[in-house]
Amino acid sequence: MPELPEVETVRRGLEPVLTGQRISVAQVNRPDLRWPFPDRMADRLTGQTVTALRRRSKYILADLSSGETLIIHLGMSGRMLISGSQLGTFHHEHPAPAKHDHVVFDMANGARVTFNDARRFGAMDMIATEAVEDHWLIRDIGPEPLGNAFDGDYLVEAFRGRNTPVKSALLDQRLVAGLGNIYVCEVLYRAGIHPKRKAGRIAAPRVAGLVPIIRDVLQEAIEAGGSSLRDYRQADGELGYFQHGFKVYDRESQPCQTEGCEAVIGRIVQSGRSSFFCPKCQR
Ligand SMILES: [Zn+2]
Repeated sequence: MPELPEVETVRRGLEPVLTGQRISVAQVNRPDLRWPFPDRMADRLTGQTVTALRRRSKYILADLSSGETLIIHLGMSGRMLISGSQLGTFHHEHPAPAKHDHVVFDMANGARVTFNDARRFGAMDMIATEAVEDHWLIRDIGPEPLGNAFDGDYLVEAFRGRNTPVKSALLDQRLVAGLGNIYVCEVLYRAGIHPKRKAGRIAAPRVAGLVPIIRDVLQEAIEAGGSSLRDYRQADGELGYFQHGFKVYDRESQPCQTEGCEAVIGRIVQSGRSSFFCPKCQR
């Protein structure tokens, strides 16, 4: 499942193809993905220019010249594929069968952007640009972890009195946007905090110290995604899925990478999801 850095990588990959460009034809090949598409979606997209391509949490937001915004969620398996002509570094052919090509944008610049989603947990909706923050998928989401509203004071306040494990608190999208299982594991490892520690019981300076760690972990992953875009080896133009060196995630029973630590990475299940951690480094 794509997390915030992967979605940001997809957004950056789409930007040169979509931003400032006109959609000649939008083709919508089925009535729904996870939820029904909005009424007349193809008509409302066709002929519009994408004035900005933004991200909020794990949603990609394409602002249109009509004053509406297309909200895109990749879901579990949604992929954006770029093909067509005149794309410079983003010139790719898309040989995959069209079976799961649910929405296709033919751009006036000759690029074709295809939303392919075999499992159909993805979603698209449209809303007036000025109302995006009130959209039901977005209105309850907390501050962006890379934005200014997310700082030490905010997180200390948000953790105060919380009896839930720090792992669950950081996964709570109302508290902070876009953090998923993989990056929360990495953040807690780097912070030396055990995933079971109660959020409200961690000393304020350690809580505040999570903020720069969260930013660093996400930023490093976004940069890794960026380099995966630059030296792109996959032939099909798929954006946003890249190998990234994780320190604890999915490393159960492997040696801890902290120098001088001889413990092995453990795994516990919290709220149905695996937490990977070093039992020695994380307290
Ligand atoms: Zn360790």
